[in-house]
Amino acid sequence: MCSRPFPACGLEKGRYVRAVTPGTVWLVGAGPGDPTLITVRGRAALETADVVLYDALSHPSLLELCRPGAELRDVGKRGGRKSPSQQWITEQLIELSRAGKRVVRLKGGDPLLFARGAEEAEALAAAGVSFEIVPGLPSPSALAAYAGIPLTHREVSSSVTFITGTDREGVSFSPERWMKLANATDTICILMGMRRLAEITAALVRGGRAPETPAAVVEWAARPEQRVLVSTLGDVADAVLREGLSNPAIVVVGEVVRLRERIRWYDRLPLFGKRLLVPRAMEQARETSSAIRERGAEPVLFPVIEIVDPPDPGALDRAVRGLSSYDWVLFTSANGVERAFASMGRAGLDARAFGPARVGAIGPGTKTALEKRGIHPDVVAREFVGEGLAREVLALGAKRVLVLRALVARDALPDALRSAGVSVDVVAAYRTVAASPEKGAALAEKFASGELDVVLFTSSSTASGIVDLLGDRAAELLGKVVVASIGPVTSETLRGHGIRVDVSASEYTVSGLLDALGRHFS
Ligand code: SAH
Repeated sequence: MCSRPFPACGLEKGRYVRAVTPGTVWLVGAGPGDPTLITVRGRAALETADVVLYDALSHPSLLELCRPGAELRDVGKRGGRKSPSQQWITEQLIELSRAGKRVVRLKGGDPLLFARGAEEAEALAAAGVSFEIVPGLPSPSALAAYAGIPLTHREVSSSVTFITGTDREGVSFSPERWMKLANATDTICILMGMRRLAEITAALVRGGRAPETPAAVVEWAARPEQRVLVSTLGDVADAVLREGLSNPAIVVVGEVVRLRERIRWYDRLPLFGKRLLVPRAMEQARETSSAIRERGAEPVLFPVIEIVDPPDPGALDRAVRGLSSYDWVLFTSANGVERAFASMGRAGLDARAFGPARVGAIGPGTKTALEKRGIHPDVVAREFVGEGLAREVLALGAKRVLVLRALVARDALPDALRSAGVSVDVVAAYRTVAASPEKGAALAEKFASGELDVVLFTSSSTASGIVDLLGDRAAELLGKVVVASIGPVTSETLRGHGIRVDVSASEYTVSGLLDALGRHFS
């Protein structure tokens, strides 16, 4: 038998190193841009915090990791609003820790790099408050990785300087420091330098750095809105004005900028920079969101429907107690699986409750939901529609079938089984309810303002939901974006409402649909 070569690191199965303990303050780096760049420890801190004080540069979707009920305080400066005083922030940290709270102070990038993490830690230490510091990936690392501009390179740069373009408030710009820096280092990486860019670059040239030296500006690095401007030291300040780049951005000066042409990858991803509306219930929207981000696009979540209890939850509870009396139990959505297992859990049952019954799933999403609960379905429809599932179940032989599904759904599956002489019980595991008219108005505004590029329809019910919410303007508003549909049934529903379908998946899954979109845009 072989023994494990490495000692356990505490990173097993989604459990993380440690949690924030009451009365302590954790200064946590959120990493730059892409929210998945947070560290494992940083994530654990967010998941356990009672209160989170966050900045504008930490990605907002990270806050979704917090417990329901955790208090979220925005202490960042935004849109010209003056930044809150450092003292006010530290006072809150001290007060909260004294009240026995688990406190996370979340800062973009690394908490100690051009951030006031050190000042906050000093104040906490002076007040006798216990604290820990969780480093984060600094934004220059995001620039290097996501813009394809390495900060060093064996052949062209063996040194890098990180420098801020904004001195302490009240201290005016002094060119001397920049003139000295001009040739003292190969790569110069300037944070917070946009406001003074003309003065800074002029001083570097005066200090002896060639004006032809390549220079790049990376705005919103590692986010789908990332923009990269490549220019020269002599021209970059003017180019920034011409192109209208602004904060947050990093300026990088040096030969390494040339490497971008060879190693850029992020802004070449198939859906880079696109904004995709995901009109799904929150639970599935999360999974869809990560698939979207993986392709360089930005998900815009809009829960057009919510999943709630069916009108008669008792029917589901009775059905799960009788699972083993069927020869097949069929699921037509991941929601159905989740609801059925929740009901089983309430009755103290587990996967054994299926007994000899075989299990069928309509598609891969449903299959994954079953597998998470230890059930490997006997059949997954090759064509992810009710008719396909019925055909495959009939081919294997069926007498008594239970279908667990949404209250309102197509009857193709039970109808096909019944017409082949099978006894079928259909039980509603959940019901979907539509978003409010106010949310509909807000959604219409998103379409009208040109904020969206694509809307992703992953089911007939979300398609009808969106069309109903948009009302008379549905066809006009959906005409402004690329309409993408997961499969024939959803497309049929859309066309039935007079909506044009631009892209449809050849494999009826979310990733199949995103791949089809990628081909559409290339
Ligand atoms: N502690 C942070 C830096 C905060 S100072 C860190 O470790 O990165 C704020 C500056 O960081 C911005 O003015 C900008 O220069 C840079 N910055 C932070 N996030 C950025 C991003 N996603 N894209 C470009 N620049 C970013």
